[in-house]
Amino acid sequence: MKHTIIQTGDPTLRQLAKELTIAEIHSEEIQHLIEVMHETMHEAPGVGLAAPQIGKSLQLIVIEDREEYLQNFSEAQLKRRQRVPLPFQVIINPKITIELGDTVEFYEGCLSVEGFVGLVPRALNVKVECLNECAEPVTINATGWYARILQHEIDHLQGTLCIDRMNMQTFTTLENYHNYWK
Ligand code: ZN
Repeated sequence: MKHTIIQTGDPTLRQLAKELTIAEIHSEEIQHLIEVMHETMHEAPGVGLAAPQIGKSLQLIVIEDREEYLQNFSEAQLKRRQRVPLPFQVIINPKITIELGDTVEFYEGCLSVEGFVGLVPRALNVKVECLNECAEPVTINATGWYARILQHEIDHLQGTLCIDRMNMQTFTTLENYHNYWK
């Protein structure tokens, strides 16, 4: 049931995505779309996926950072990134607020810019107000890698890609990232 992930250059990735109504969130169509997005993200694999990345210009995001993904990193790397496992979650119609605190730079990639990464500065702390898959209001106070994922995915709903925020001198193929920069 997984879906193709569209790549940079597709106009859908540059559109402002449409908000979902409460009735739409409860609809079979959207509940099915959430399942498809969950599977697509898992199979990619990725830690987040926004609906525009599968060609649906909707304010809908899924996030999940599995324990098994963290095993590729040393404890020091995880600590520096403030990266911890995140349970599967659905974020709809998000409003993001950048909170006081530092901006941090790490290599970041995107399933819609396949095969490349680069250094992207992101706020360390954000607050996100949104709805979940049951259309219930949720407030998320996130820090570290979780805050980075939220900023990256919410950017997708505004038609912004990580390459827009990237220090382009650091733009590299994944292969060269592993060879020289990891
Ligand atoms: Zn992305």
